[in-house]
Amino acid sequence: MVTLVISLCLVILLLALLALHYRKLFLRTVVPAHLFSPEQQKNLTPDQAIDALKKGNQHFLDGDFRSFDYLHIKEYILEHGQSPIAVIVGCMDSRSVPEILMDKGIGNLFAIRIAGNVVDKDALASIEYGVKSIGVKVVVIMGHTGCGAVTAAYQGKHYGNLEQLLNKITPAVLTAKAQNPELEESELITQVAIENINNQIIYIKQHSDIVKNAIEKQEIKLIGALHDVKTGKIDFFT
Ligand SMILES: [Zn+2]
Repeated sequence: MVTLVISLCLVILLLALLALHYRKLFLRTVVPAHLFSPEQQKNLTPDQAIDALKKGNQHFLDGDFRSFDYLHIKEYILEHGQSPIAVIVGCMDSRSVPEILMDKGIGNLFAIRIAGNVVDKDALASIEYGVKSIGVKVVVIMGHTGCGAVTAAYQGKHYGNLEQLLNKITPAVLTAKAQNPELEESELITQVAIENINNQIIYIKQHSDIVKNAIEKQEIKLIGALHDVKTGKIDFFT
């Protein structure tokens, strides 16, 4: 009797181990829902990538979020490597989270987030890694309305290490003020955010041959976008 029980337990254990093994094999082989596999990413055009970001934002606006199997995605990426379709340079603002606003879960986006979505040499290096080594199809500089960093630059606040960051936004303040004297303050600050997005794009083009060449070869697109924190809508500048 004891031998029979022990044998039964061993069989159950063996079956459990086999099930675990084949589950891992399944997770690592089958492309998870809503994840761009390396093959799919490779075949995507820049316009299709932008379209995927727009559709994701529509899911957010509709409250129609997709269900991601994060464990499956983790296992699949362990086996096949990551293949995000886009680099998003966004602000650190807690409301401006690209993966959620564009309904992309994990594995689909590189997100570089820093106050005022400014680009420095390290951010530029990260963008180049995404473009050159991973093959993203689009780089998006995403600012947002009601940005604290943009507002601080507009108001001329400078303290500590923030000063050198805000100095990167100051040219946008000067341009927006000069070109839009009729706007009231809140509208003007939004205009500064837009000018700042455009300035970061100019900076990237001026300082990265890798990005510039990829744009010229039509391998990627570099675009701006503005996230409205009141509505959640992202206006892609295309
Ligand atoms: Zn911000």
